Amino acid sequence: MSSFVGEYDIAVIGGGINGAGIARDAALRGLRVILLEKNDFGSGTTSWSSRLIHGGLRYLEYGEIPLVFESLHERRRLRQVAPHLVDRIRINIPIYRSSRRGKFIITLGMIAYDLLSIGKKIPRHRMLDCDELIAEEPGLSSDGLVGGAQYYDAQVTFAERLVLENILSAREAGADVRNYSPVIGISVREGVVRGLQFEDRVSGREREVKVATIINAGGPWVDRVLATVNRELPEFMGGTKGSHIVVGSFSGAPKAAFYVEARSDGRPFFVIPWNHQYLIGTTDIRYDGDPGDVRASAEEIDYLLKETNNVFPQARLSVTDIHFAYAGVRPLPKRDKGPESAITRKHIIYRHKHRARGLISIIGGKLTTYRNLAEQAVDIAAKRLDAKAGKCQTRTLLLPGAQDFAAEKAALKSHPDLSIECATRLLEIYGSRATLFAPGGSVFRTEDFVDNEKTVLAAEVAFVLHQEMAVSLIDIIHRRMMLGFRPDQGRSLAGRIAEIAAAAANWSDAELKRQLAELQAYNEKFLA
Ligand SMILES: Cc1cc2nc3c(=O)[nH]c(=O)nc-3n(C[C@H](O)[C@H](O)[C@H](O)COP(=O)(O)OP(=O)(O)OC[C@H]3O[C@@H](n4cnc5c(N)ncnc54)[C@H](O)[C@@H]3O)c2cc1C
Repeated sequence: MSSFVGEYDIAVIGGGINGAGIARDAALRGLRVILLEKNDFGSGTTSWSSRLIHGGLRYLEYGEIPLVFESLHERRRLRQVAPHLVDRIRINIPIYRSSRRGKFIITLGMIAYDLLSIGKKIPRHRMLDCDELIAEEPGLSSDGLVGGAQYYDAQVTFAERLVLENILSAREAGADVRNYSPVIGISVREGVVRGLQFEDRVSGREREVKVATIINAGGPWVDRVLATVNRELPEFMGGTKGSHIVVGSFSGAPKAAFYVEARSDGRPFFVIPWNHQYLIGTTDIRYDGDPGDVRASAEEIDYLLKETNNVFPQARLSVTDIHFAYAGVRPLPKRDKGPESAITRKHIIYRHKHRARGLISIIGGKLTTYRNLAEQAVDIAAKRLDAKAGKCQTRTLLLPGAQDFAAEKAALKSHPDLSIECATRLLEIYGSRATLFAPGGSVFRTEDFVDNEKTVLAAEVAFVLHQEMAVSLIDIIHRRMMLGFRPDQGRSLAGRIAEIAAAAANWSDAELKRQLAELQAYNEKFLA
């Protein structure tokens, strides 16, 4: 027997960036919203991307001008509403005699990119000759180099936190947001959506919701969510797998990011300074397995290592240099023919008509364009509701950690007990919300820090458990405190953090052991 939770205007399935953005937008318009995520918020594809907030220079090749324009527009907005999470990044494109895209094409692309970035606040591109580029980046291979282009885009180091801040903002606006709550059924009567059922994984109980509009933001799981409707609904997804490796600094490592054409197949890939390491990727391979099972394969890892060594010959990177590797499935529309790279990255907001009126499925959608996608999806949903929806507010409304950011940043950076490294880390993760657990007048002693370097506060653990809906040790380390993306995957601090969490969440000894074992098994999935 399932217990009844309540009645809502909109139910959102999936707490990745798109679901979180939709829930926030809808709640801010005064609608009654419930969001259900089967694992933790931001644990799907959103965690496994290249973490760029970019126009997508490559999409120009496929004539996707409106998508590039939309993305560049959203890049500007995201830098305004989340300055603590989204920062600008300098990118170089080296051009070699053998490059498929020569100087002329790259120059045209750069001009178009600048023109499409109307109103941007970051510098325009510049073309560099060979000597200028090598002077800036001496580790770059000069063999056959004819010059390069330099431009700016943006990066979200911790995409997980961008998801979370959307979730927190949605909750603040009245949304009922739940992680560990997989949707297990959608009720349809006479072709119309009436409600849904989900499992509350923490209590193990089945729950029921009455709702007439459901937005399926299941990312690469969209078709699997549709299968729970138990009707013959169309299949949409044709995902492609993309993998990344993460390495430490290497001999000849660049200062800026690089966007490079792979020698073996001409595909462009990135080498990105990220989180004091280098994020290298990606690949693009059709994938139709369970998106939750996807792993970076030995071939992909070998490809990324070889191609990086081609561009930075002193690097001589090998598998032993890899800190961890990750893979994700792009939630793209099904296209059986043509190269993977040519599949459109535009999103589609599909309104199911005959068999499940009231159901809307989101196909595709980049991290960069989530806010606009959410605005469009809620506009569509609002039209079929009896409830009156207010205007979209997310174009300018700051995310929670961006409120009073400049003032709180100055306060935290001048706190007598916190080093600049510690203050910077806290600001990059929590923004101004860091002052909720590290307020101005507080005193921090050595025992208040988790690490010897005094950059991680013990108070963060209880904060993320009680204020940020972390449930497991994996959530705490990987998606709240962002220690899981350190070179050692946060292993050196895991024991201490687990003990603090056990005290804060009342875990028994057996539960503490279980949490640690689960974390270890999780970390191992990412070892190359
Ligand atoms: C390799 C790679 C590189 C990328 N690089 C970039 C980039 O640099 N910039 C950019 O803008 N975009 C990039 N993208 C694209 C971007 O990451 C995705 O399009 C975006 O994150 C999709 O978000 P989403 O919310 O739709 O999906 P997801 O993040 O996958 O979220 C869907 C959620 O639905 C949940 N779910 C599934 N089934 C159920 C159910 N039954 N009940 C409840 N919840 C359920 C899942 O657990 C998941 O958390 C990249 C993607 C990949 C794979």
